[in-house]
Amino acid sequence: MKALVFTGPGVVEMRDVPEPEPGAGEVLVHVVASGICGSELHGVKSPGFRVPPLVMGHEFAGRTDDGRPVIVNPILSCGHCDLCAQGRRNVCRERRIVGVHTPGGFAERVAVPAGTLTPLPDGLDWTAAGVVEPVANAVHAWALAGAPEGAKVGIIGAGAIGLACLQVAMSGRAGSVEIADRADGRRAIARRLGADAAVPELTGEYDVVFDAVGAAGTHEQSLARVRPSGVAVWLGLAEATAGFDASDLVRGEKRVLGSFAYRDADFAAAVDLVGGWDLSWVDTFPLAEGAEVFTSLMNGRATPVKALLTP
Ligand SMILES: [Zn+2]
Ligand SMILES: [Zn+2]
Repeated sequence: MKALVFTGPGVVEMRDVPEPEPGAGEVLVHVVASGICGSELHGVKSPGFRVPPLVMGHEFAGRTDDGRPVIVNPILSCGHCDLCAQGRRNVCRERRIVGVHTPGGFAERVAVPAGTLTPLPDGLDWTAAGVVEPVANAVHAWALAGAPEGAKVGIIGAGAIGLACLQVAMSGRAGSVEIADRADGRRAIARRLGADAAVPELTGEYDVVFDAVGAAGTHEQSLARVRPSGVAVWLGLAEATAGFDASDLVRGEKRVLGSFAYRDADFAAAVDLVGGWDLSWVDTFPLAEGAEVFTSLMNGRATPVKALLTP
């Protein structure tokens, strides 16, 4: 079958790969929509824990062999540790992710454990199904933030995660939401989705700031812009450097929370939420064009904000 394969630093290629063979407890999913994630663009450019050759893709939906439409929750956890017992599978010490540690959705077919499948509800289209995973990240970050009613929210980065944070905050209890991005096109999308302001850089003071970029500079910004006793939630993974003013954190009793992936309840909430959303920031491309689309996004093309590949 055809698959988009990460073959070496900075390189993805369409290849013929062996058919997946479902093992015990696994099912075959015929992929319909599989989103390209910012973490993959970074992960291919400067390889870390993704080891080539690898079929990536952790944001996908498709049909089972018997035709059931499903969305895959790609988090694989041990299932029996203290964290799994608390419903925190996302931070299980033995956590692995489909498309990162095992072959993923940039292929015609993929074998996944049966427990990863969520039925695609009637009326939810494949575009919505394809963005449930990134939206679940935003749902989780919003839940961690514990934003007070009417909160003034700031978001750094208007990529898929930042826009999902915007839409989750608007459907939550946010009083106002401002979002920062350097790309004009992305700011225009954020305004269209209903952001109260879309600016190159946040300048106000916020109850909660979401950093959907994760560079040293945005870490610093997020903490500087949050009010005393407010919270900065970091979802981005662009750089490992902390970069923030620790004395400001102490003197302002500010908090920084890391937010990684989602719990199962967040994933279910994301399925319920996306149905009503404006997803005009999502574009679909044939899997056959995957290498060109991936490479141009990796080299800095700002739109589409989310590209879905469809075999
Ligand atoms: Zn992702
Ligand atoms: Zn566990």
